[in-house]
Amino acid sequence: MSKPQKVVVVGAGPVGSLAALYSAQRGYEVHIYELRSDLRDPSTVPLNFTKSINLALSERGINAMRHSGSSKLLDHVFSTTLPMEGRMIHTKGSKGELEEEPQSYDIHGRTVFAVDRADLNGRMLDILEEAPNVTFHFNHKLLTADFKKCVAYFENRGPDQTDPGSTVNVDFDFMMGADGAHSAARNQLMRFVRMDYQQQYIDTLWCEFQIQAKEVKPDNSMGRFRISPNHLHIWPGGKFMFIAIPCSDGSFTCTLFLPAAEFALLELNPTGLPGFFDQNFPGVTELIPPDKLMDSFDTNPHLPLITIKCTPYHYSSSVVLLGDAAHAMVPFYGQGMNAGLEDVRMLFSIIDKYAEKDFENTDHDSVAHQRASALEEYSELRTPDAHAINDLALQNYEEMRAGVLSPTYRFRKWLEES
Ligand code: FAD
Repeated sequence: MSKPQKVVVVGAGPVGSLAALYSAQRGYEVHIYELRSDLRDPSTVPLNFTKSINLALSERGINAMRHSGSSKLLDHVFSTTLPMEGRMIHTKGSKGELEEEPQSYDIHGRTVFAVDRADLNGRMLDILEEAPNVTFHFNHKLLTADFKKCVAYFENRGPDQTDPGSTVNVDFDFMMGADGAHSAARNQLMRFVRMDYQQQYIDTLWCEFQIQAKEVKPDNSMGRFRISPNHLHIWPGGKFMFIAIPCSDGSFTCTLFLPAAEFALLELNPTGLPGFFDQNFPGVTELIPPDKLMDSFDTNPHLPLITIKCTPYHYSSSVVLLGDAAHAMVPFYGQGMNAGLEDVRMLFSIIDKYAEKDFENTDHDSVAHQRASALEEYSELRTPDAHAINDLALQNYEEMRAGVLSPTYRFRKWLEES
C-alpha cells in the first residue's frame, strides 16, 4: 500500500477545521498549522478581538457538516444552536410606540440557526483531536510556500505570540489554504498562477454589543430572552442598521453597521450614542442600558468589512484556497462561513469522483495527477458561484438596512416627511 498523502491545512478556523475532518476521514496524514494558539484555551485572543461572533448557520453549511463523516458534529450543532424562523423588524409607530414585525424566511417553516462561531470551531477541534492521523501546530504562521517543490515555511511564534520565532520548513503533497481574508496562502499562490484578484473595503464599519440575559429561575430557560429567541432582529436605519442574534444562554450578540464617517462623529461625542440609538434604533436602549452601550462602543473594536474575489483557486495538484481566503464577503447575506463550508464539500466530492474513476492507480504520481484534474474542475465550477454569493451579500445590505421595511411603514414615513 502506498504512503498516505501528506495534507497541510493552513488555518484552523471553521473552514480549515472542516477541511481537516474531510481529509482525516480519507486517511490522509493531516497537519493543521494555525497562527493563533488553541481557541479552546480561554487565554487565546479571539479572532477580531471580540468575545465571539454569533453567526447564522444555514442548510448550505449544515449539509457540508453532514458529509464530514462525523455525526458528533451535527449532534452538537443541533443541541447548541437556536432556530431562527425569520427576521424581526423593529420600528416606531406613528404615535412613537415600538413596533415589531416578524418576516418568515421560508413558507415551509424551514429555519436558519444561530451558532456561536467559537463554540462550533472548538467542537470541530475536539473531534479532530480524537483522530489518530491529525496533528495540530498552533502558533505557526505561514510565511511563504513553493508550490512547485511542495514546501512551506512557517514561523513558530511560541505560545505567547511575542517570540520572533524560528522558521520551520514543512513539505507536503497537498496544501489547503483556509487562512481567512488576509490569506498568506493566497499571496503565495499569486506567485505561481495568473490570478485575477479584486478586493474592496465597503464604507461601513462594525462594532459588537450585547443584550444581557434576564435573571430568572433556573427552570425558566426561555424566560431569559428579552426579545424573541427565534428571530434575527433588525433595526433598519436606512443608511445603516443594528442587528441582534440570539445566544443559547439568553443573551444576544448585536452588531452596529455604520459608515466610517458616522463612527468618527460618534467617537468624537460618545455621550451622544444613546440619543443616536433612540433616534434610529427604537427600543434598543431599553435592552442595553446607555452606560453598557457606551462601554461596548468604547471597548470593542470598530472593524472594516472587505469583499474579495479571485480566480483560480488552485495550482497544479499542490494547493487550493478555501473559505474567506478564496472569497471573503460582507456578512449581510449570512453566508460567508456557510459558503466556505460548502467549498469543502464540493472540493472533496470532485476529488472523490476522480479517485473513483481511476481507483486502480493509487501510487503517488497517479493520485497527484487525479488531484490536479480535480482542482482544475473545482476552480472552474466554484468561481462563478463564489462570485455570485459575494455580489448577493453586497446587495443584501440595502435589503437589510432599508428594504425590509414594510410598504405600509414606508408609505407612512413618506407621508410624515412630505
Ligand atoms: P477564518 O474564520 O478567518 O479563519 C482563518 C484562520 O486562519 C484563523 O484561525 C487565523 O488565525 C488563521 N490564519 C490567518 N493567517 C494565517 C497564517 N499566515 N498562518 C496560519 N494561520 C493563519 N458567515 C456566515 O456564514 N453567517 C453569518 O451570519 C456571518 N456573520 C458574520 C458577521 C460578521 C460581523 C463578520 C465579520 C463575518 C460574518 N460571517 C458570517 C463570515 C464568517 O465569519 C467567515 O466567512 C468565516 O469565519 C470564514 O471562515 P474561514 O475558516 O474561512 O476563515
